[in-house]
Amino acid sequence: MTFEDFKLNRQLLNAIEEAGYEKPSPIQEKAIPLLLAGHDVIGVAQTGTGKTAAFMLPLLMKLKYAQGNEPRALILAPTRELVMQIYEHFEMLSKYTDLRAVALYGGSGSIKRQLEQVREGMDLIIATPGRLLDIYQRNELNLRKIKTMIMDEADRILDMGFQPQINRLLEIISSKKRQNALFSATMPEKVVKLTEDFLEFPEEINISPVAVTAETVEQRYYEVPNFRTKINLLEHLLEDKESFHKVIVFTRTKEVANNVYKFLTRKVDESVRVIHSNKDQNARSNAFDDFKKENIRILVATDVAARGLDVSDVSHVINFEVPKQYDDYVHRIGRTGRAEKEGIAITFANVLDVHHLRKIEKLIGKKIPQERIPTVVDITQTPFEENQKLLRALDFIRQREDPNYKGAFHHKKRYQDPKNKDKKKNRSSSNRKPKKKR
Ligand code: AMP
Repeated sequence: MTFEDFKLNRQLLNAIEEAGYEKPSPIQEKAIPLLLAGHDVIGVAQTGTGKTAAFMLPLLMKLKYAQGNEPRALILAPTRELVMQIYEHFEMLSKYTDLRAVALYGGSGSIKRQLEQVREGMDLIIATPGRLLDIYQRNELNLRKIKTMIMDEADRILDMGFQPQINRLLEIISSKKRQNALFSATMPEKVVKLTEDFLEFPEEINISPVAVTAETVEQRYYEVPNFRTKINLLEHLLEDKESFHKVIVFTRTKEVANNVYKFLTRKVDESVRVIHSNKDQNARSNAFDDFKKENIRILVATDVAARGLDVSDVSHVINFEVPKQYDDYVHRIGRTGRAEKEGIAITFANVLDVHHLRKIEKLIGKKIPQERIPTVVDITQTPFEENQKLLRALDFIRQREDPNYKGAFHHKKRYQDPKNKDKKKNRSSSNRKPKKKR
């Protein structure tokens, strides 16, 4: 199949050629004809599959040329980064048309400048739900002419708590003869519910049953007992600067992100930055731009900070910790191996991570092969406290999953002989009293 088969207009075909897209990706093959025919669509697809162009091209066909000053189409996305990335696709693919779009997002985006752009008129709005409503409530926008509405990364939109804004927007925007599409990497219950509110007789494009990890990503994991050994392994892998030339290291928390970052700057490479929710939007953007332009080799990031980031050619995604929310795994590894480019995703897993990894394997319907830690890497003994923490967390999960599980680890600590319960209470309160007196 070729892009010509979709009967797109010449302006778009020229732009596609310039973008270097040789043939439609699977999601494009399925979504473009349906959207062109005017259907509502649910697309289960992660970043990296070409989903942005899959909805942008039919939209540009429909909008055709600049017309009036009120927007005729709306694309909603969860984060500033994703809005920007969609806007970049718009610029690239609409290059030979006179269509106008504005990108509206909060954070570092100056509302004053965005208002000026809105007043100049547009055909398409690409926005985060919060900022869009904010501008609407200032009576600066007429949303009555919206005839196409697309939600991208709907799972993220809801995860970020935008449900009230979405409800409000659906009330405001006329549903008459509107075409809608919703894209999401995963389909949890709340997204299914949203599709019911938002779409009419949708066609579902189900590239995968639950969640897909791009075929072009090679996945593997190491069993690594503790933080220190994870650091040693990371140091060892990153020594190979040639193949590990553009690396994102993912952590679950900002504390671990900071620790990994400090270690890397000290021991491995100057060319590293860290992004997490405590860094302001500017610092994040700068770090990200530097990474994109390959001024730096390594980016350490938490899931929240990395949402919606679009970088191509990431050579390796390293999961220093397995994410708690399993679909984040899919999002993380979607940063590498984008659109037919090969990428490698490596996971460092301690006992707790291994437990989560087994669940992730179920989600993605794939077994992730294990690799042995190279013998040159120093495997240190797990410090007592770290070990306790790991076992306690694992125990907690097991108890939650299986009510019959006795709780091998802190069972003893928690156990109280019912007969001695009162005695114990008394003892502890009498223990406290003298302290108070002192
Ligand atoms: P997305 O899934 O929309 O984030 O797209 C991932 C990357 O693939 C972006 O950099 C797109 O520009 C690129 N891309 C989209 N469609 C194609 C295609 N048909 N061929 C090659 N690259 C593509």
